[in-house]
Amino acid sequence: MFMVQIDADKCEGCGECTASCPADILEMDGDKASVAGDPNDCLGCETCVSVCPNEAITLTEN
Ligand code: SF4
Ligand code: SF4
Repeated sequence: MFMVQIDADKCEGCGECTASCPADILEMDGDKASVAGDPNDCLGCETCVSVCPNEAITLTEN
């Protein structure tokens, strides 16, 4: 199972991660991205990690 975490202090609200997540579990919450869907649906594809310009997203597997 994968766990995606978004550091709100680093997020600049560009929306790249929410637009590119194939599992559609990331959403904008105001000007910050957040995990809004079922975290268990994360595919571990690392797309969000690679598109984020601020290195605000970390993905861990547990
Ligand atoms: S790793 Fe892939 S499936 Fe998981 S939140 Fe990021 S973009 Fe979505
Ligand atoms: S890609 Fe990074 S900076 Fe942009 S909304 Fe997502 S977490 Fe925030």
